[in-house]
Amino acid sequence: MKPGVVIDRRYMNHDMGAWHVESPSRIATLLRMLEKDPPVPYRAVEPRPATDEELAFVHERGYIDLIRSTAGKTVPMDGDTVAGPKTWETALLAAGGFLESLDRVMDGTVQSAFSLVRPPGHHAEASRAMGFCFFNNAAIGAEHLIRRHGLRRILIVDWDLHHGNGTERAFYERRDVLYVSTHQSPLYPGTGAARFFGHGEGYGYNMNIPLLAGKTDADFLHIFEKILAPVAAEFAPEFIISSAGFDIATGDPLGGMEMTADGFGLLAASLMAMAERTAGGRLALVLEGGYDLPALRDGVGEVLKALDGKDIPRSDRPGPLSPSLGFELQDPLATFRKKWDIPS
Ligand SMILES: [Zn+2]
Repeated sequence: MKPGVVIDRRYMNHDMGAWHVESPSRIATLLRMLEKDPPVPYRAVEPRPATDEELAFVHERGYIDLIRSTAGKTVPMDGDTVAGPKTWETALLAAGGFLESLDRVMDGTVQSAFSLVRPPGHHAEASRAMGFCFFNNAAIGAEHLIRRHGLRRILIVDWDLHHGNGTERAFYERRDVLYVSTHQSPLYPGTGAARFFGHGEGYGYNMNIPLLAGKTDADFLHIFEKILAPVAAEFAPEFIISSAGFDIATGDPLGGMEMTADGFGLLAASLMAMAERTAGGRLALVLEGGYDLPALRDGVGEVLKALDGKDIPRSDRPGPLSPSLGFELQDPLATFRKKWDIPS
């Protein structure tokens, strides 16, 4: 089934300066691919701005007003995060575009969707912009599914290079949203140790898998199939959201991971299989990082092929696992097994 795709020229209007890796050219690259050489047929989903009400699912009113007040100006928010004249309206369109994609999945127009939006969201906290993020698109989306669509269990899978501190904090004491993150460590923002496993009601519903640089397609697929899949089967999400970061691609200027374009397709296919088991196939990805433009383009292309259900000739199990992976997973697995049944 054709995947839904959210993308819009207006996502290029947020601009943090010529030097910045989180640049409008990321969207330009993806638009060019979709216009000139689309990897699969897709259904365009028209974005809309998120409302204050929707932003307030996750963000404090005072913070929303602060970002609104940057409209038309240039205001530094954090060392590497700058609100420009059009950041407010672009950030509204990013969150709203993702919500629109969720509605199209929920009403059955599409089974899966990918929102190719910016600014990204997973570092944004209730009242803090950081790490190129202003509003937490994925977290707002999960709340939207719970509050507006009455869903009871949402799985968020964050494969971005960086830990999604904002998403973790939004649901740290909740059991209706299970947050699972793989991320390079040590690295920005410094959060995301395996022992942070949720709190109170949410104990067991926050799963961090910090990894050393150098992980490959085989490593990520192993984590998805041997750790994530059994947990997903037990949690039984009604919807899967993915914070899809392409900064784990080989050659990304911010990271040291070694994912290929094919690998991203395999991760998406793995999430689809999980979604089919308990969520009626409902899966929505939202773009987070990814700063090497050809790797971003090719990775997104392979994900869209996977969402379309295209049977792509692949090297199947792509190579051996990294020698250190078993050691790196010891700590997370020991933690996760306090709550979840993960076969050895
Ligand atoms: Zn990232």
